[in-house]
Amino acid sequence: MRDKISLIVPCYNEQEVLPIFYEETIKVIDKMDADFEFIFVDDGSKDNTILIMRELAAKDERVNYYSFSRNFGKEAAMYAGLCNATGDWCVIMDSDMQDPPSLLPEMYHAVKHEGYDTVATCRETRAGEPPIRSFFARKFYKLINKISDSDIKDGARDFRMMPRKMVDSIIAMGEYNRFSKGIFGWVGFKTKWIPYENVERAAGTTKWSFWKLFKYSLDGIVNFSSAPLHISSWIGIIFCIISVIGTIFFFVRRLAFGDPVTGWASTACLITFIGGVQLFCIGVLGQYLARMYLETKNRPQYIIRESNRKEK
Ligand code: UDP
Ligand code: MG
Repeated sequence: MRDKISLIVPCYNEQEVLPIFYEETIKVIDKMDADFEFIFVDDGSKDNTILIMRELAAKDERVNYYSFSRNFGKEAAMYAGLCNATGDWCVIMDSDMQDPPSLLPEMYHAVKHEGYDTVATCRETRAGEPPIRSFFARKFYKLINKISDSDIKDGARDFRMMPRKMVDSIIAMGEYNRFSKGIFGWVGFKTKWIPYENVERAAGTTKWSFWKLFKYSLDGIVNFSSAPLHISSWIGIIFCIISVIGTIFFFVRRLAFGDPVTGWASTACLITFIGGVQLFCIGVLGQYLARMYLETKNRPQYIIRESNRKEK
């Protein structure tokens, strides 16, 4: 029996590239020895993305689409796609041609004949990206690999082929604050990495602002590491030690030399500095607490407004 591969494609305002994506992808998959299904997830697009999906679904029965009631973010879109895919293998792909469909045969070969469980891709270079973004991205990957026990590769894309058992374990991680790069690393499995040259978007514009990326990286750190909490406890301990040493020092100086400390400026500076450190540490705690709060509410990850197939 032929394997079935689900192509999961999150789309947010992608009316320019979606037809190109579909045309280019079917050229590749029609030559492959497997059955395919498309799972397009319209992440609350404000343009005509949904019209294109309806059109594609009408002419090709392999096309399925799920349209969200609003923009829930790429993480939610990927999760919805994984939850509703029926294939033996699932592949997550961006709709902007930055994840070249031409790699699909190589990926399928690796999982079928080379003994790997899953195939992931990473960018060799960050060409075409603003330098400041590359700089922060590199720093982020260095940091997160140091402080978390999930292996997160620099330049890793979400473009992956995963077996059913891996998809099921990812679905089982139903956390509300999702950081997929961490989740993929966390579930493990024997992974083959395929590097490729960064490709520029075929059309349209990127949906990630610097600020959105910054918040996403914070999510990554808080979700996959408790290091910030430990660091704040250490800051507390260090400050206690310094204050004990300081107290003894000034006490002895006063008794031995009758030399009182003068000046309120130093006191004021100290108080504001320590106040700042305290607020910072409470803020760190708050980051974890806020996420716990959202988790305990147990809200759905996404709401589907329209689909051509029944929800699984
Ligand atoms: N995307 C999404 N929801 C969002 C933002 C992005 O579904 O809120 C999709 C987008 O349509 C694209 C993929 O995620 O298919 C990657 O987005 P983009 O190409 O803008 O990111 P970049 O490649 O610049 O990192
Ligand atoms: Mg892109």
